[in-house]
Amino acid sequence: MGKLIIVPTPIGNLEDITLRAIRVLKEADLVLAEDTRVSGKLLAHLEIRVPMKAFHQHNEHHLAQQLALELQGEKTFALVSDAGTPGISDPAYLLVKACLESGVPVECLPGPTAFVPALVKSGLPCSSFCFEGFLPQKKGRASKLLSLKEGERTMVFYESPFRVLKTLEQFVATFGEERKASVSRELTKIFEETINGSLAEILEYYTSHTIKGEFVIVVAGKN
Ligand code: SAM
Repeated sequence: MGKLIIVPTPIGNLEDITLRAIRVLKEADLVLAEDTRVSGKLLAHLEIRVPMKAFHQHNEHHLAQQLALELQGEKTFALVSDAGTPGISDPAYLLVKACLESGVPVECLPGPTAFVPALVKSGLPCSSFCFEGFLPQKKGRASKLLSLKEGERTMVFYESPFRVLKTLEQFVATFGEERKASVSRELTKIFEETINGSLAEILEYYTSHTIKGEFVIVVAGKN
């Protein structure tokens, strides 16, 4: 029986790749990559030469079963996404499910992901939290926000730079100006920055600063 190994990759700083991740990528028979050009650069940097195959949101439904079948042979496939941990707002779930249903063992290496440093740096309770990832862009957004309004757990959101301001405005409207929050930008990169404060303070900050890079928004639960 083969094996599927989920391999987290750096979210900015290349030093964050683990020794184990490097070994697993070197030893894999095939690296499944969200974008073979992006992961190709990482593999070249690590001087790893392994065949690659694209596995992304547009072909995962079609490929998951087929790959799970191939893994019933003796091969080991490593799955990487463009950055961070596959399965965390990135493709992996369908393949993991297909493998488990076919009796193919699945391993997931611990490693980089954006939400953990953002949550820990927020200074908000980490004992109980919910990872919300990207909010729906249109349909279902209002009802999702409403469903989170009374939640007591710290909430973690991913957001694109183009929607940060709009999202912060909606958070103020949903959770109130005084709700504590934190926005982390460009984690592990040169311009890493975390702003902590009330939602109103953070909104004011980003209204007067250029919004650039990758963002994680953390919002306190209701207490
Ligand atoms: N799989 C990734 C992970 O484990 O975090 C997430 C991939 S998701 C497609 C990309 C989103 O993750 C970005 O829009 C941003 O919200 C967040 N993200 C990724 N890298 C980041 C970084 N260096 N700093 C802040 N947020 C980041």
